[in-house]
Amino acid sequence: MTAVIDPQAELDTPLLQDNVQLIGGEWVPAASGETIEVINPANRQLLARIPRGTADDVDAAVKAAEQALPAWRDLNATARASLLYRWATLVEENAEVLDQLESRDVGRPHWGPSPVPGMLRFIAGQADKVHGVSLPTYSPDVMGFTVREPFGVVGAIIPWNAPGPMFTNEVAASIAAGNTIVIKPAEDAPLAPLALAKLAMDAGIPAGVVNVVTGYGSEAGAAIPSHPGIRRVGFTGSPATGSIVMEACARNLIPLHLELGGKSPQVVFPDANLSAAAPAIAAGITMNTGQICAAGSRVVVHRSVHQEMVERLAEAMQKVTVGPWHQQVNMGPLINGRQHERVMGYIEAGKSGGADLVLGGGVPSGEAFGDGFFVNPTLFDNVKPDMKIAQEEIFGPVLSVIPVDNEEEAVAVANGVDYGLVASVWTEDVGTAVRMSRALEAGQVGVNNALGAGVIGGPFGGYKSSGFGRTMGADAVQNWTQVKTISMRGATRPGN
Ligand code: NAP
Ligand code: MG
Repeated sequence: MTAVIDPQAELDTPLLQDNVQLIGGEWVPAASGETIEVINPANRQLLARIPRGTADDVDAAVKAAEQALPAWRDLNATARASLLYRWATLVEENAEVLDQLESRDVGRPHWGPSPVPGMLRFIAGQADKVHGVSLPTYSPDVMGFTVREPFGVVGAIIPWNAPGPMFTNEVAASIAAGNTIVIKPAEDAPLAPLALAKLAMDAGIPAGVVNVVTGYGSEAGAAIPSHPGIRRVGFTGSPATGSIVMEACARNLIPLHLELGGKSPQVVFPDANLSAAAPAIAAGITMNTGQICAAGSRVVVHRSVHQEMVERLAEAMQKVTVGPWHQQVNMGPLINGRQHERVMGYIEAGKSGGADLVLGGGVPSGEAFGDGFFVNPTLFDNVKPDMKIAQEEIFGPVLSVIPVDNEEEAVAVANGVDYGLVASVWTEDVGTAVRMSRALEAGQVGVNNALGAGVIGGPFGGYKSSGFGRTMGADAVQNWTQVKTISMRGATRPGN
């Protein structure tokens, strides 16, 4: 067990140093010497400074990753897995500090045990199970088979909302396959990724295999997919930025996966267990202050239970306590001023657009909230499917209730957005569950489950504008490999 960080004190942990990023195993400032301030979103106090990395730093990181590549790629896969298992153990040993770093950086109250050690072990288990196949041949003196090989140096760009798991997803899976990586965390929440990278080094993962360049998206971020040394990219973030990253990958002729946003429906049928559905839906939209790509932000509810559902949702959301991360509360602030303005803008759009404000809609006041980017859990009723708040991702604790008259309309409304990340169905009827599971356009469908599957190793990713490619499934590591077909003609037998 590690020490608890005093919430009011300066950040002080051996896992972090001031103003450094990781390039080729060295902890270095930006080439430019410039820095970015990382603040605590609950009070705007300075938490740390990070390097303002740019294309020069990305270039240095790609070169370091190129240098590390041959030995890492050729290390046997079981040895790579062992290093990932050791990394998982160190993450577990430092769980408390990592949790506090991420909480402080994102502004989130403790949300239970970290998924990171389990993710690392799940991925490590795949490292030495990446197989090719044998192929039939035209002639007995030829053998044919495929091997799966890493792409080489790969890149990733991640958002701020769950920086530890996002970092793990991209880094662990790509390096397990034998790639080396350059990753840029979001400038709003880079601390847990830097600490995880330190633990990767401590675990014995060689210098240059994992490189972390911190900085702004338009500078360090943009330099990754456009660097000629990068052979594949993983991006998690907004559709607008995803599209920019994909353009850069297109120019560079490299593949990528995109994990983008969501506007996930919670479809509630008349036979649903409303006493289970309402608190789960309320928890789903307020967890991490609604800043979860998978958050169920639209309740598409049958008119016969509409009124009761709204009452139950209001009751459940009313109970959600708000405050700074170190207090015993359910919900912290939003990540930054821009996000706060954005969420408040959507709340105004809901009001002026004619939706009925049932709960929240404002900012909590009082000393505890100080300068923080807080907003109250907000519930809108009688939202029309074409309203802005029903169509666009708010990324805040704002829930829209849309009443419908039948299953057909429920499907049309649920699918009537650009996104397709997660969808949930609430029903006790297996027939409804089966039909809806097939009809909903989403990468994950949860039946009587608010945040998607809740299974181990479920592939995660989007339909439609929510992106493409899947992470965390049984193919997580294989997805970071390319296929080579080998045909081998043997010498004919002497004398023939
Ligand atoms: P964002 O603005 O798209 O940022 C994501 C990352 O991209 C950040 O590291 C950002 O850097 C970087 N970036 C910005 N401009 C860039 C550019 N021109 N080139 C390369 N990189 C660039 O998204 P966000 O507002 O931080 O995060 C919220 C979004 O992420 C939401 O839409 C949410 O749904 C989505 N998300 C999706 C998933 C999923 O798995 N599907 C998971 C979590 C979040 P800086 O911010 O540091 O400038
Ligand atoms: Mg951002």
